[in-house]
Amino acid sequence: MKKLVPYLFTQLRYPYTLPALPYAYEALEPHFDKATMTVHHQKHHQAYIDNLNKALEAYPQYQSYTIEELIIDQHALPADLKMVVQNHGGGHYNHSMFWQILSTTFDQQPTAIIAQKIDIAFGSFDKFKEAFDKAARTVFGSGWAWLCLDQKDNLVVVATPNQDNPLAQGLRPLLGLDVWEHAYYLKFQNKRVDYIDAWWHLVNWQEVEAVYKKASTI
Ligand code: MN
Repeated sequence: MKKLVPYLFTQLRYPYTLPALPYAYEALEPHFDKATMTVHHQKHHQAYIDNLNKALEAYPQYQSYTIEELIIDQHALPADLKMVVQNHGGGHYNHSMFWQILSTTFDQQPTAIIAQKIDIAFGSFDKFKEAFDKAARTVFGSGWAWLCLDQKDNLVVVATPNQDNPLAQGLRPLLGLDVWEHAYYLKFQNKRVDYIDAWWHLVNWQEVEAVYKKASTI
């Protein structure tokens, strides 16, 4: 497996802080509601950051690592720190990406570059959406669905459990969907499918292309 080099969030390092959202908490309504957005960002995301910082206090030799370096190199870390990086470091990265690829301009279409890559990998956008929906719906318990670049620069859809990040598998995430219940329970209760349908309205394909441009140069 080719070792990845950091390409995104290269400014994020210890002590980690909660990144401001690029829109207001209510700006994604009616698809995502203000109450869920607020608690998801201020409480859940903040908790991952706090736990990551707390663990790194005891490991000054890893404080200069960026969030990506920690995740990419997690297998080489001391066991207790590795566990925190996998769960809470992953939580910080995953949520940072999640907010970034949502847009207040609803119902965007994939940009030309991404649409072409999707057609090559999946045959059509509808086939891609079907594969992504299936991945997101069938995560057992808590986890994420992702669109990633694989080691051969092809697009792939994967799911990960908990807060595991695809970087640890040598994949480069372009787009991630949080399917933890905390992401949807207030508005959608147990109806994960309805939450996934709402999320499609919000995907910021311009931003996905921006991430792709960084990811595809390494
Ligand atoms: Mn979440």
